Amino acid sequence: MQCDLCGTEEENLVSAIVEGTELNVCRNCARYGKIVEKKIFSAEQNNNIRQITSKEPEKQTIEVIVPDFADKIKKKREQLGIKQKDFAKKLSLKESLVHNLETGSFEPSIDIARKLERFLKIKLVEEYEDKKTETMKLDSNEITIGDLIKIKS
Ligand SMILES: [Zn+2]
Repeated sequence: MQCDLCGTEEENLVSAIVEGTELNVCRNCARYGKIVEKKIFSAEQNNNIRQITSKEPEKQTIEVIVPDFADKIKKKREQLGIKQKDFAKKLSLKESLVHNLETGSFEPSIDIARKLERFLKIKLVEEYEDKKTETMKLDSNEITIGDLIKIKS
């Protein structure tokens, strides 16, 4: 595999957040970013779930990459008649990264997916509110034993 930053061929790349974008980088470049846990991609486990706390403190939004992102990207790029190489250039991504996205061997980070969404005008990220958080909050903090008795009687 190639380092997304310097292009060095290296067998063991690490995932690192560099300027808000998740990249696969060599050990040398990893010090420029924040190293994240190595993710192994598989067709069954391709939900890139990241929780984002929104401005309202009680609500959380979950952003999920759609499972058929590879097909969507490839089809739309081909529809637009842009070569993989030029497409990569326009989005300032590595050509190898675009290739990996289109074959489904690399799942985009939310940031990369947003970039692709804007350029291709397709939907790659699904958002929904995390309702569980609110319910749990109610259970633990706001309902006292007194309240429960009142509800039951
Ligand atoms: Zn590097």
